[in-house]
Amino acid sequence: MTIVLKVDPLNPEIEKIRIAADYIKKGATVAFPTETVYGLGADAFNPQAARKVYEAKNRPMDNPLIVHIADLNQLFDVAKNIPDYVLDLVQKVWPGPITFILPKTDKVPKETTAGLDTVAVRSPAHPIALQLIRESGVPIAAPSANLATKPSPTKAEHVIEDMNERVDVIIDGGETFFGVESTIVNVTVNPPTLLRPGPFTVEELKKIFPDLEIPQELFKGGFKVALAPGMKYKHYAPSKKMILVEDQNIFVDVVKILRKKYTTVAICLSEDCGKIDEPRIQLGSKENLYEVAKNLFDAFRRLDKMDADLGVLEGVEEKGIGLAIMNRSRKASGFSVVKEKGDVSKYVDI
Ligand code: AMP
Ligand code: MG
Repeated sequence: MTIVLKVDPLNPEIEKIRIAADYIKKGATVAFPTETVYGLGADAFNPQAARKVYEAKNRPMDNPLIVHIADLNQLFDVAKNIPDYVLDLVQKVWPGPITFILPKTDKVPKETTAGLDTVAVRSPAHPIALQLIRESGVPIAAPSANLATKPSPTKAEHVIEDMNERVDVIIDGGETFFGVESTIVNVTVNPPTLLRPGPFTVEELKKIFPDLEIPQELFKGGFKVALAPGMKYKHYAPSKKMILVEDQNIFVDVVKILRKKYTTVAICLSEDCGKIDEPRIQLGSKENLYEVAKNLFDAFRRLDKMDADLGVLEGVEEKGIGLAIMNRSRKASGFSVVKEKGDVSKYVDI
């Protein structure tokens, strides 16, 4: 049985958090909101509990989990040989949507890190997540709370859809704040390397790490080549074909071309949605990429439920959180990327 607890995201009711924390303490699984997406959590020090997370998600055992902590004491419990500059830095950027890869301590079992000697750690900026970790008294290992084939959940209803009867507790704390997963930086290598773009932007990162290595794959193809374990897996792709149009200037025309032959759902920016008939899913304004990020994964889930042949997704500028949006969008489209109108016929018969 799965218990669903509705909790106020900004003023979490402590008695409800304690119910969920008791489950974590006894080695059970709890899905909870963070500022990025919902996580599926278990005691990071308990190998059996960590294993339950992989089982609930159908996640391959070689795809490591991110460990969520509430304070520096917990950082020292999970990571060792932390460079001084990283220690200074985490005190400035945490809690926040940025994960660091560090050498792991012996306390962290191999199940949590998928056998690696390193551990991914972050402190989440969400009252429910922080209180849950504090009340549990242990770091919480938590990947995104979706089935391995689905987009990360940004609303409790997404978690319920994927995880009902597969986990012990789901905390319904409403919509998450950013809607895309955390930025990941590997600080065990020199220079530090960006592994996944996220809400903590490259522009901000460059101020902190002037020599940060930003693999070009992040801009072009997403992770066709695995930069980190787990990223080799086929990322979520809708069961319907979805084409990503990178150039906003040709988006409306591409929708028209496709609609001559196919029932096409346009997943569009507000500025262009007005020029397109239903069926369409509005993402938000190109002037507010935070709004677009927040709606992206929900749009992918909605597309799969609609009665249509295919989806066509409008791209955004790769600045700020736009880099994370495009990284996830390329993967979700299975790299069916249209840069000019002539590219459309590469992916569908027209
Ligand atoms: P999720 O929380 O579902 O986005 O999954 C966490 C992701 O973090 C994994 O898929 C890995 O790509 C990455 N990750 C976790 N631990 C490590 C690690 N020790 N080294 C490199 N990447 C990691
Ligand atoms: Mg995930």
